[in-house]
Amino acid sequence: MITFLLFVILFAWLIHRYDPKMQLVRPIHEFYLNKVQYHNQVNRAEFKQIDQFLAKYNSFYRALSLDGRAKFIHRLEEFIAEKQFIGQDGIVIQDQHKWLIASGAIMITFGSDDYLYKNTRRILVYPQEFYNRSINRNLKGGSSKFQVMLSWNNIVKGFEDDKDALNLVIHEFAHAFEFALRYVSSTNKRFKAYQLLLDDIAEDAFEVLKTEKPSAFRKYAQTNRKEFFAVAMEYFFEQPENFMRNFPELYTHLSVALNLNPLNKEHDFRVDERFVDSMNRLLFKRPIPKELSTFVTSEKHTWPQWAIVLGFVLCTPLFFILMSEYNEVPLGKGLMWVTSIMAVTLFGYKKYYKSKYMAPFVFLFYISFGANAMILTGFMLLNNTIVNEYPERKVMVPIDKVYKRSIIIGSEASDGHDYQLFNPIRVDSNFIKQYHVTTSDSLLVTVFTEEHIPGWVIYYDISLNSIKR
Ligand SMILES: [Zn+2]
Repeated sequence: MITFLLFVILFAWLIHRYDPKMQLVRPIHEFYLNKVQYHNQVNRAEFKQIDQFLAKYNSFYRALSLDGRAKFIHRLEEFIAEKQFIGQDGIVIQDQHKWLIASGAIMITFGSDDYLYKNTRRILVYPQEFYNRSINRNLKGGSSKFQVMLSWNNIVKGFEDDKDALNLVIHEFAHAFEFALRYVSSTNKRFKAYQLLLDDIAEDAFEVLKTEKPSAFRKYAQTNRKEFFAVAMEYFFEQPENFMRNFPELYTHLSVALNLNPLNKEHDFRVDERFVDSMNRLLFKRPIPKELSTFVTSEKHTWPQWAIVLGFVLCTPLFFILMSEYNEVPLGKGLMWVTSIMAVTLFGYKKYYKSKYMAPFVFLFYISFGANAMILTGFMLLNNTIVNEYPERKVMVPIDKVYKRSIIIGSEASDGHDYQLFNPIRVDSNFIKQYHVTTSDSLLVTVFTEEHIPGWVIYYDISLNSIKR
C-alpha cells in the first residue's frame, strides 16, 4: 500500500521534474480530453487532422489550450452533424469547407452553454459573390431565419487576415445568433437576460457612431441596429483592443453576456472575476448585473469522468493490494462484483449511455474500471476496517493442510446453538497455512469448513445469518 503511494508520488515528481511542458503525457491528456471528457465522435487521427487545420487557419482556435481545443472540436463536430451544408454553383462540399465555416460560428458561442444555432438548418456555400433575386443584388453572404449563405472566397479572406475586423462567417453568424435569440425560445438564457441592458448600451454606441468621423467601426455598421451588431462582433473578435478603447462599456457588457473575453488570450478567452470587478468599478453608470457575473460552466468536469480516472488509476491497483493484504467480504468475490456492476450499469445507463453523454466504449470503461472499481475498493476498505476493530486478543488458528476449497472463520454466539459469523472471513486457502485472527476473550473461535479439519467442528451448510449445528 505504502509502496504504491510512494510510487505514485515518485511518478508525479518525475513528470514534473523532467517533462514540465507535459510533452510525454500530452497524447494521454489529448486522448482523455477528446474521448473521456468531451466524448468526441472523432478518433485520434481525425482529431489531429482537424486540430492542425484549425490551428493553421483560425487564430482564435490557435490560442486555445489543449482543453479549449478539445471543447472547440467537440462543438464543431456537433454543429457539423446538425447542419446541412449545400454547395452552390459547382462547389462540392468537403470537410475543410465545413470546418472553417463551423469554426467561425463556434467562436461566437464558445462561452455559452447554448452554442448550436438551433434555427439555422442549412448553410449554402457559393464559390464567390452571388446574385440574390429577392433584393436584386450581388451578395457576399446573407442569413435568414433558417439558413446562412456564404461565399467561399470571402470566407477564406475573412480568416486569412484576422486583424482587419472583416470576417464574413462571424458577420453572418452574428445575424444567425440574433435569429436564434428571437425564434428559439430555449436558447441562450444568459444572453437573453442581458438583452435589455445590452440594447440600451448598444443604442448609445450606435448614436455615437453615426455622428463620429472617422468612425470606430466601419461605415456599414451604421446601416441599422442588426448590421451594427454583426459588425460589432467582427470587431469584438478581430480588434478587441480597439473596441475596448472606443466603447469600453459595450465591450465589457457584450463580453459578460457572451461569457467570452477576446482580450484574455492566455486563458481561453475566459471572462475572469478580476476583469468583471475592475470593469464594474469603472462602469458605475450601468454595472454588470450581479447574477450574471457568475460564470457558465459549459462542458462540466462531472464526476463520472473523475470516477474513470480515479477508479482506473487509483482504485483498481488499490483494490488488488487490499485483496492480497486481507480477505474479502463474506458475500464472495463473484457476487460482490456482479452486484456492483449491475448497480453501476442500472444507475448510469439512462444518464450516461442513452443520453449519449458517453461513447459506448467509454461507458464500458466507466462501468468496469471507473465506478465499479471505486465501489469495490470501498467495500474492501470497509471490510478491512470492520475486521480490524477487534483488538483484544490474537488467536492462532492452525491449519496444517492446504485446502482445495475455502474456509470461513466464525465464532460461537453466547445464546447456545446458533452460531453467528463473527469477523467472517473467507480464505482461498491454497496459499495459507496459518491464519491470525483477532477476537475477544469470551468468544470461541470456530472454523467452518467443507472439509474436515482436525480439532475443529465441521459444518457443511453455511449461510450468512444463522448456522445450524
Ligand atoms: Zn449583415
